[in-house]
Amino acid sequence: PVRVRFCPSPTGNPHVGLVRTALFNWAFARHHGGTFVFRIEDTDAARDSEESYEQLLQAMRWLGFDWNEGPEVGGPHAPYRQSQRMDLYKDVAAKLLDAGHAYHCYCTTEELDARREAARAAGKPSGYDGTCREVTEEQKAQYEREGREPIVRFRMPDEPITFTDLVRGELTFTPENVPDFGIVRANGAPLYTLVNPVDDALMEITHVLRGEDLLSSTPRQIALYRALAQIGVGNGTTPSFGHLPYVMGEGNKKLSKRDPQASLNLYRERGFLPEGLLNYLSLLGWSLSADQDIFTMDEMVAAFDIKDVNANPARFDLKKCEAINADHIRRLDPKAFADACEPWLKAPHAPWAPEKFDRAAWEAIAPHAQTRLTVLSDITANVDFLFLDEPAWDETSWQKAMKEGSDALLRTARTALAEAEWNADALKAAVVAAGEEHGLKLGKAQAPVRVAVTGRTVGLPLFESLEILGRERTLARVDAALA
Ligand code: GLU
Repeated sequence: PVRVRFCPSPTGNPHVGLVRTALFNWAFARHHGGTFVFRIEDTDAARDSEESYEQLLQAMRWLGFDWNEGPEVGGPHAPYRQSQRMDLYKDVAAKLLDAGHAYHCYCTTEELDARREAARAAGKPSGYDGTCREVTEEQKAQYEREGREPIVRFRMPDEPITFTDLVRGELTFTPENVPDFGIVRANGAPLYTLVNPVDDALMEITHVLRGEDLLSSTPRQIALYRALAQIGVGNGTTPSFGHLPYVMGEGNKKLSKRDPQASLNLYRERGFLPEGLLNYLSLLGWSLSADQDIFTMDEMVAAFDIKDVNANPARFDLKKCEAINADHIRRLDPKAFADACEPWLKAPHAPWAPEKFDRAAWEAIAPHAQTRLTVLSDITANVDFLFLDEPAWDETSWQKAMKEGSDALLRTARTALAEAEWNADALKAAVVAAGEEHGLKLGKAQAPVRVAVTGRTVGLPLFESLEILGRERTLARVDAALA
């Protein structure tokens, strides 16, 4: 059975690269009817925070991911927060030492730095040189008298490590490129290099899908799994690995966590739909078919095959992300769309008091907005004329629409509107007629009316907007513009 894991560290805000990793793991698990494990890698007290942990959970819920094992849902390998599993790691480290897969390393940082420099200068591999691999009891006693506190270092095998990456094919790492590495700090704190593969082994993970930035740690982890199998930790199998391609941002540089475009919160605040954002993120390394960019998560799950993931770097394109989101907005059923926008139409987002919001007026105008929005937060400026007492007249729009002759036109239009039946067709006919009297086409004639009533030169279809706003409020606004 397929068992995958998503195992972020709670440092800082969740970012889109992380979401892509979660998505591919989740889709893979769901496609195979497998288990999606959510694990929190919070062993670095200096960098992890409770706030970031809460944010991760919230983000996962908002995105619509469900996990079979992990925080809040529990599972047979609980706890799923590494900070609560420390005793386990100490125990494994002790077993690795006993079996000779790891050793105490007494080298100081200064000694390591000096030897690394010397190796570099001589054009030799600059990783750990194995000094403490064989330390005599005498030497050990001497080091301890000197007050040196050892770290625990893993002993890499002397043969190359070869594995078949699910995305990149066969890869080989030679010993000189993968030196022995630290797994427990001098103060006893276990490191990522240990706890990540130990938990994968204990949680019986079958497939590790993660970013290409972690590729260099894979040969170490494979060596560690083999050692764990020998000492009876886990079920003895090594998972398959698939490394997802880099995501490139502006200027063809790797999208960094610190890039504002990378922050998941930004997409939430702007009103992306989770399924729109996920649809776009799935295209960073994968595609459903050459001619279908827009799909649901169900469609993705049905089609997802890790073999189709492309090894080439993917480019993050905000415009395309927005276009895909817009498509998902169009696909919502009208009620779902109206509901999805509501948070933006109510305090604290909205510039009007909560009681000014009118659901009936909103539902009447909503279909006109649904075909036009890119992100939900844009809704406020599109319908504010309905809920504000006075339209948000802005100076630029006013200057643009209110030219010489606008007053005369507005007066004629006001009379025609006052006499018209109050429906969009009749209102349009009234403004067309008013325009004709002044030798103006509809486009020119409606501009001052639009600015007078909505405050802006662009917006939702005008006559439908007037119909919903009502006769009284419309005429009062035209009067105010003329005053
Ligand atoms: N906690 C690691 C990270 O966030 C997980 C890496 C992995 O997927 O193995 O980078």
